[in-house]
Formats: sequence, C-alpha cells, structure tokens
Amino acid sequence: MARRAEKRAGRRAGSFRTCVACRRRRPHGYTYRVVRSADGQLLPDLFQRLPGRGAHLCPDLACFVRAAERNAFGHAFRAPVARPDPDALAGRFLDASWSQCRALLATALRAGWLIAGNDEVVQAIRAGRAALCLLAEDASPRSTERIRKLAAGCGTPFFRALRKAELARFHHGKPLAACAVPHRGVARSLASELTRAIALRDSLADRDGPTAPADGSTDGLTRIRVRGKLPPTRSKPAQAG
Ligand SMILES: [Zn+2]
Repeated sequence: MARRAEKRAGRRAGSFRTCVACRRRRPHGYTYRVVRSADGQLLPDLFQRLPGRGAHLCPDLACFVRAAERNAFGHAFRAPVARPDPDALAGRFLDASWSQCRALLATALRAGWLIAGNDEVVQAIRAGRAALCLLAEDASPRSTERIRKLAAGCGTPFFRALRKAELARFHHGKPLAACAVPHRGVARSLASELTRAIALRDSLADRDGPTAPADGSTDGLTRIRVRGKLPPTRSKPAQAG
C-alpha cells in the first residue's frame, strides 16, 4: 500500500531517486539530499537547492547509519568524504522538515487557507473542503480517533505531527489540536513534507525505545490523494483569521 502511494507520488513528480544506503528507488521529494563540499565534508541539502551532484537517503535513520558505516557517500561521490554522524545528520534534516511544515502552515494561514479547531475540521472534512488534516501529537485520543476515522472514510489525507503548543502560532497563540488545509497545492506540499518528516521522526523514536507514536501517524503515506470537491483557489488571499 505504502509502496503504491510512493509510486503514485513518483509518477506525479516524474522522477525517482535511489537511496545510497538501501538502493531502493524513492519518489523525488521523499528522500533527503546530501552534497559534498570541495574539502570532503557532507552538507545536508536542507531545501534541495545546493548545486552539484547529490546523494539521496530514505527518511529512515537505519539508512543514515548504513550509509555512514559502508562509506556509501564516498562511493556515491567517487571521492573521499568525512564520515558523518548519522544521528546529527538525521536531526538536522528533521528540524529542516518541521521548519518547512511550519512555513507551509504559515503560508496557508496568511492566505486564509487554514481551518482551525476540531469542530471546524470535522465540518470541512464532511463538506469535502479539507485537502489535508493535521492533528497535534498531543491532541486527545478521542478527537484524534474521531477525526482519523472520518478522514479515512472521506479519503482525506490525515497526519499526526507537532504539538498543540507548536500549532498555537496558527491559532492566535492558543493551543491548537486540529487544523485542515483546503488549498490543494499547499496541502500537497505539506503532505509530502509531513510524510518524510514523520517517517524520519518515527525511525528516530524506534531507536530511542518503544515509544513510537500511536497509529495514524503515517496514514498520509498511503493516502496522498484528495477526494471531494475543493473550493476554487482564491486569487486574492482572504484576511488571515
Ligand atoms: Zn534507504
């Protein structure tokens, strides 16, 4: 199922990247990219903008570790590289991913494309207006389950990430447990970033012990598609609420 969603995403993006550690082909945008500096240091290409040859990694700590142990970067760049600290490298990518998610939510908020609050999100899903819904990791199990089931039934991509206090900045400073994005383009970018961030987050959590987030956190990987009628994209952003 996840494999099929990845393939779909790859087709849309038009290309795949091969992980230097596990050699699996992944959709472009799902991997993390590393480049080599002139003096042999590995530079995380946090926003996929650095020039030059790149080496790609799955959003999985195991691939970061394997790449470091087997000198996969040296082979990929056909040049000596300094041995990276896999944890530090993964941590930097994860921080960058969360920053990117917050930036996309801020964009949605500014443009009036953010629906905040449990009841508002439920209404938006029912009305087919939600292109993506995001539940805070510390949202109550009851509302999480309610929205997760509703989203699954309506084919709305559902993610669990960030905490209520972190989402407060998109809700007049008040803790926010649930939000939805009606704008299809923003939702697609956010789904893509959340998918790899959650995968990497969970792989780091697995390493730390059996504290992986509850079910539902990776649902987005299997359902990056939108069902239902979406409102037309407004040419003039509405006032941010
Ligand atoms: Zn891999």
